[in-house]
Amino acid sequence: MGEKERGESAPRQRVSFFCANGHEVRPAFALEAVLPDTWDCPRCGFPAGRESAAPPNAPRNEPYKTHLAYVRKRCSACALVAARPDRLVALSDRDRSDVRRPVTVRKAR
Ligand SMILES: [Zn+2]
Repeated sequence: MGEKERGESAPRQRVSFFCANGHEVRPAFALEAVLPDTWDCPRCGFPAGRESAAPPNAPRNEPYKTHLAYVRKRCSACALVAARPDRLVALSDRDRSDVRRPVTVRKAR
């Protein structure tokens, strides 16, 4: 009944994909579709491959990083300041051309 209203469906094929946790997923593809090498496993989210004997490796999760760690990663100047706060360079309104003048940093108490 539904098929008559929507027209004829394209011929399909079921293809098996296997993840590293031993799950099998069988999505349907059109016969003329180009088959993907991997498919995300709907049960565990790992990538699944076509060969059950050699499923793709599980993705490596990066360890948790703090917001400050991400900021330091993006900003090399932040890393420099973190490594050598005693060498912190500041711009003064009086003399912006002399940017290499070191400024003493007081430690917060
Ligand atoms: Zn899985």
